[in-house]
Amino acid sequence: MAPSQSFEVTVVGGGLGGLTAALALRQRGIRVTVLEQAPELGEVGAGIQTAPNASRVLLGLGLRRQLEAIHTEPQDQVRRRWKDGSVVALTRLGQYCKSKYNAPYWHYHRADLHRVILEACTDPEGPGPVVTLHTDKKVTGLDRTDRRRPAALTGDGCRYEADALIGADGIRSRVRDEMGADDTLHFSGEMAYRALIPGDLIAADPATRWLVDRFQSTIWYGPDRHLVHYMIRGGEYLNVVACVPCTDEVAEKWVVPSSAQELADAFPGWDDRVPAMLSKAKEDVSCFALHYRRPDPVWMDDHVALLGDACHAMLPYQAQGASQAMEDAAVLAEELGAVSADGIRGALRRYVDRRAKHAGMVQQASLRNKTFYHYPDGPEQRQRDEKLKHFDGESDV
Ligand code: FAD
Repeated sequence: MAPSQSFEVTVVGGGLGGLTAALALRQRGIRVTVLEQAPELGEVGAGIQTAPNASRVLLGLGLRRQLEAIHTEPQDQVRRRWKDGSVVALTRLGQYCKSKYNAPYWHYHRADLHRVILEACTDPEGPGPVVTLHTDKKVTGLDRTDRRRPAALTGDGCRYEADALIGADGIRSRVRDEMGADDTLHFSGEMAYRALIPGDLIAADPATRWLVDRFQSTIWYGPDRHLVHYMIRGGEYLNVVACVPCTDEVAEKWVVPSSAQELADAFPGWDDRVPAMLSKAKEDVSCFALHYRRPDPVWMDDHVALLGDACHAMLPYQAQGASQAMEDAAVLAEELGAVSADGIRGALRRYVDRRAKHAGMVQQASLRNKTFYHYPDGPEQRQRDEKLKHFDGESDV
C-alpha cells in the first residue's frame, strides 16, 4: 500500500455519510477537514436501521464496543396486511443475519449512531490524524482553478483548499451543482411521518404490549401507503415511519410539524392495532416530503467526488440511503488510502466504478417498492403477498 499521509481531504457535510467517510479516511492516515453548515453536528430525532452491508462497514471501522452499547437487535422482520394485521411474510434477522452475513441487522437512535462516529473521528487515541471539524460553515461555491487542489468557499468568506474534496452534503448538494450535474431531483408525491413513541406507553397498554414482547422490524402494507416501526434504545422508543400521499403544504415546505392525531387519522380503516399504537405519539411528530434522484452519472470530476445522498438520494423504501453512504465511505477510503497525491484522480475513478452501479441498483429497487408496497387490494397485491411468503431472508443488497 502506498503512503497516503502526505495528502489532505475536505469533506463537505457532517451527516452520517460525511462523518463515516471522515473516520474511514482518518484510519488510512489521511488528514480530513469536515465543513458542516449547521451550528452543531447532530442528527434528527428518529431511528435508523443498518442491514448487514452497513453494519459490516461500521464494525470494520472498529466501532463494535460503541455500537454494542447503543444498538437494538430485531429478531425478525414481519410484513403485515393493513386491514387485519395478518402476517404476509416473516424474515429472520437476529442470529440468522449474523450467521449468514457475518454481520448484524441493528437499529439505533440516529443521534446515538451519529455521536459514536463523531467521537471516533475526534478521539485523540484513535488511529490516524484526528479529524478537524468546522460547524457553521456553509459551502457556497468551489474554486477549482487548480484542478489538483480544489477549494471549498464558505459563506463567511473562508477558503478550504485540499488535495481532494468530497461532497457529502445531502440531497440538495451544493458540491454536485458546482460540478455542473443535471438536475435529477424528483418528487415522489409521497411524504413520511416520523415519530418516536415512548416505550413505557407501549408496554403499559394491553393493546400495544405485543410490540415489546419480541423486538421486530414491522412493515404494514396497504393501498397507497405503508407503515414501518421498530424499537430503538432497547425499547425506550418505538420508531415510526409512515409513508402516505403528500399534502400540498408538505410538498412545498419539505418538512412540516405534525401531531399524533394527524398521524393516526392517516390510516383510516386499518387494523385496530395501528391507531392504538399511533395515537401514543405524544410529541415530535414531523412530516417529510420524499424526494429521490435517478441513478446519476456524475459522481466525480478530477479531484472532486460525491458521496451519499449527494449522488444517490433514494426513497427510504429499503432503509438503505445511509447504508449505501457508509459503503461509499469504506470504498473511498480503501481507494484513497492506497495512493499518494499523484494517484488521487485514478483512486476517485475506481471509487466511482466500484460504487455507482450498485448504488444505482439500490436506488431503482427502492423506487420500485413505491409501487410494490402500495398495491390496492386485488390481483397484484395477492401476487405480491404470495411471492413474499416464500421470501426467507435473502436480500439483494
Ligand atoms: P445528509 O444526512 O443529508 O447530510 C448532509 C449534511 O451536509 C448535513 O449535515 C447538512 O447540514 C450538510 N450540508 C448540506 N449542504 C451543505 C453546505 N452547502 N455546506 C456545508 N454543509 C452542508 N437510511 C438507512 O440506511 N437506514 C434507514 O433506516 C433509513 N431510514 C430512513 C427513513 C426516512 C423517513 C428517510 C427520509 C430516510 C431514511 N434513510 C435511511 C436514508 C438516510 O437518512 C439518508 O440516506 C442519509 O441520512 C444520507 O446521509 P448523507 O450524509 O449522505 O446526507
